[in-house]
Amino acid sequence: QAKTSGHNLWVFYQPDMSEQIVQRREMEQALREAIRADQLRLVYQPRYDIKSAQVYAVEALVRWQHPRLGLLTPDQFIPLAEETGLIIELSDWVMLQACRAMQQTLPELALSVNISASEFQTPGLVERVHSALEQSGFPPSRFEIEVTENATLKAPDIALEMMRQLKAMGVRFLIDDFGTGYASLSYLRTFPFDGIKLDRSFVIPMADSESACLIVKNMIGLGKAYSLNVTAEGVENSQQQELLKKYECDILQGYYIGRPAPLEQIREQQAPAVSARARLALAKN
Ligand code: C2E
Ligand code: MG
Ligand code: MG
Ligand code: MG
Repeated sequence: QAKTSGHNLWVFYQPDMSEQIVQRREMEQALREAIRADQLRLVYQPRYDIKSAQVYAVEALVRWQHPRLGLLTPDQFIPLAEETGLIIELSDWVMLQACRAMQQTLPELALSVNISASEFQTPGLVERVHSALEQSGFPPSRFEIEVTENATLKAPDIALEMMRQLKAMGVRFLIDDFGTGYASLSYLRTFPFDGIKLDRSFVIPMADSESACLIVKNMIGLGKAYSLNVTAEGVENSQQQELLKKYECDILQGYYIGRPAPLEQIREQQAPAVSARARLALAKN
């Protein structure tokens, strides 16, 4: 199918079915290879605790350094990983790498990782998390799992049992992209979540919309009513930050707080805060 407009020639090309299948299979093979050949990378984004005025945790976010296509973001390969089951291997890699790197670089901070909905329908999640924590020596009390609401919907009994076992180990659970899923509020009572992360689509319009502010204020209130720790995602400017402080949000995350970056870079950004505390301690003596 081709269309001419002015001097530009736009060509819309629809690969036929068999070609799509071949491309998919190639991509699947490439991803399988990537996990083994060390082409995956992790970046980390700080989560800032308002009360203590300190970075409380980092979230691990995966990237794929593809030999031909360059650096790929999760939306370009996580769906494929989920459909092919490769997500299990990918997640195992993410958990172990992130736990090890944190133990070496920022052992005082908590860590959150993203676990896909499909992993809550596949047996073995409890053992896999346990193994990553044990192999790295990472304390479960500093480990948080982010899942979307939809994770608990398809097989609620299995998901609930997995969550119970992981919680018994000391692991915490956060609802990611809160407000965008299909779950009803009753599931905040049914599932043992520790916190919610308000999706950035609610936070971003706050700076120029009163109704957006009211919605976020009430979502924070709702989280508090269920005794949940509330993180706001997508904090991009100081207005949002100030409003969220006013609404008594617990944790802030977003480009204004810090962009996803290699762990060494996060540590360097942390250093001034640490030395300020050290100076304060010295001044007191
Ligand atoms: P998420 O867990 O909701 O992660 C937050 C996403 O928002 C990240 O995109 C982050 O870079 C982006 N972000 C952070 N602050 C801001 C901001 O202030 N403004 C805007 N506009 N965006 C911001 P990223 O890294 O592309 O990740 C996208 C999604 O991919 C994640 O959403 C998560 O659901 C998924 N993902 C990432 N890593 C993994 C992983 O290891 N396993 C699984 N299963 N999913 C992952
Ligand atoms: Mg997340
Ligand atoms: Mg999110
Ligand atoms: Mg997301």
